[in-house]
Amino acid sequence: MSKQPRSLWQETYSPPTFKPLHWGEKTKVLIIGGGIAGILTAYRLHQAGVPYILLEQGRILQGTTAHTTAKITSQHGLLYQKLLRREGMARARQYLSANEWAVGEYERLSREYPCDFRAEPHFVYSQKDENRLKREMDALAALGFEAEFCRELPLPIKTMGAVCFPHQASFHPLKFLGELARDLNIRENTHVLELQGTNAITERGGVHAEKIIVATHFPFINRHGGYFLRLYQHRSYLMALSGVKPMEGMYLDEDPLGMTFRSYKDLLLIGGGGHRTGKEGGNWAELRAFAAAHYPAAKEEYFWAAQDCMSLDQMPYIGQYGAHTEELLVASGFNKWGMTGAMIASRLLADRVMGKENEFQALFEPKGRLLRPKLILNALSSAAGLLNPSPKRCPHLGCALKWNKAEHSWDCPCHGSRFSSKGECLNNPANEDLYH
Ligand SMILES: Cc1cc2nc3c(=O)[nH]c(=O)nc-3n(C[C@H](O)[C@H](O)[C@H](O)COP(=O)(O)OP(=O)(O)OC[C@H]3O[C@@H](n4cnc5c(N)ncnc54)[C@H](O)[C@@H]3O)c2cc1C
Repeated sequence: MSKQPRSLWQETYSPPTFKPLHWGEKTKVLIIGGGIAGILTAYRLHQAGVPYILLEQGRILQGTTAHTTAKITSQHGLLYQKLLRREGMARARQYLSANEWAVGEYERLSREYPCDFRAEPHFVYSQKDENRLKREMDALAALGFEAEFCRELPLPIKTMGAVCFPHQASFHPLKFLGELARDLNIRENTHVLELQGTNAITERGGVHAEKIIVATHFPFINRHGGYFLRLYQHRSYLMALSGVKPMEGMYLDEDPLGMTFRSYKDLLLIGGGGHRTGKEGGNWAELRAFAAAHYPAAKEEYFWAAQDCMSLDQMPYIGQYGAHTEELLVASGFNKWGMTGAMIASRLLADRVMGKENEFQALFEPKGRLLRPKLILNALSSAAGLLNPSPKRCPHLGCALKWNKAEHSWDCPCHGSRFSSKGECLNNPANEDLYH
C-alpha cells in the first residue's frame, strides 16, 4: 500500500490484529467493514449473544475512522432549523434524542474502555450570519433543548457568536474502538469481492449468512439502493499543532468550507481546506497559512486528510440496503458525524437482526428518502465526470479521474473513489485497483 499521511490516532495507538478468514464459514450475521460502524455493530451482537463474523479487507480501523476529528456531539452544524422545517417537530426531536443517546452511550462505555474521553462543550460559530445562529437557537428551544448562545470564543478569528451544546465530548477513537474490538469475531485481510444473495465471496472462500450488514463506508454493491446517486464524498484536511495553548471546548464553523478546532492533550487540532472529492480545495496549504498567521510559534506534529459520505438530506442511511433486500442492511452517509451516527447504527441494526422494535428505525430508513432537486444535481455532477473524455477511468462506474496534486492520488469527482499513483484503491466505492 502506498504511503499516505498517518493521523495522530494511528501514530499513538495500534489496534489488535486478527487472522484472515480460513476458507468457508456460516453465521447468522455477516458484517462487512471494520470501521466504527462495523465494530460497534459487532460489539452489540457480541453482547447479545448473536452469532456474527466481521470481515475487513485490510486491518481494522484504518479507514475514515482513523482520520476523524473524533468530536462526540449531537450538534451537527446548524442542522436543527433545517430538520424542523423539512421533517417536522416529531422527526427533528427524534434525530436530536437519538444523537443525545449516542453521546451518553460513549460516556457509559468509555468507563469500561479508557480512551482519553473528555466531557466538553461543542460550539458552532458563524463569521458572517448572526441570524442563522439565532434561528438555530429558536429551533432548539422549540425542540426543548437547552442550548446556550455565546459571544466570546477563544478563537483567533472574529465571529458573530456561537450556539453551544454544553454536555458533549471528545476522545481517542482508536483507543476506544481497538480495545472494544479485542474479543470480537473478526477476520482481517479478507476482502469481500461480491455478494451472491446472502453469500459473501472473498479470495479466501465464502461466508454464508442469514443477514449481511454493509458497513464499508461507501456501500459497494451498485445493483441495489442507488447509493451512487444518493451519496457523494467530501474531503477535509487536518493537522495537530504543538506549542499552542490547548482550547477548552470544541468549535466548528457553520460554513461547510470553514474550520474545525479541538484539543487532544497538549495538541491543538485544526481542520478545514475541504472540497468535494475530485475537485479543487484549500487542503493543507490553507491550514498551514492559517497556522502561520494565527499560531506563529506552533509546530506541526501530524497532518492527515480524510473524506466522508454525505447523504442528500444530511441524515445517515441506516436500515434496509435496497427496496427488496430484506436480508441486506446498510450503515452509511454519516455526513462527517459518524461517531454518534455509527453508535445509533449499531443499536438500530442489532435490534433489527434480533427482530426488536426500535423507535428510531423509520427516521433513518434509507428507503424513500429521495430529495429530487439534490438527487438531480448530484446525478448531473456525476454525468459530467462520465462524459469527460480523460483516458484514466474509475473502475467503479467509469468516471474520469482527476489528479490530486496535494495528495498525489487519482480521485473520482463522481463518487469519491481514490487511487494511489501506482493505482492501488485508497477509498471506495471502487472495489478494485485501477490496473486490475
Ligand atoms: C475529516 C473528517 C473529520 C471528521 N470528524 C468527525 C467528528 O469530529 N465527529 C464525528 O462524529 N464524525 C466525524 N467524521 C465522520 C466519521 O469519522 C465517519 O463518519 C466514520 O469514521 C465512518 O466510519 P465507517 O465505519 O462508516 O467507515 P470506515 O472507518 O472507512 O470503515 C469502513 C471499513 O470497511 C472496509 N471495507 C471497505 N470495503 C470492503 C470490502 N469490500 N470488504 C471488506 N472490508 C471492506 C474498509 O477497509 C474500512 O476499514 C469526520 C470525517 C472526516 C472525513
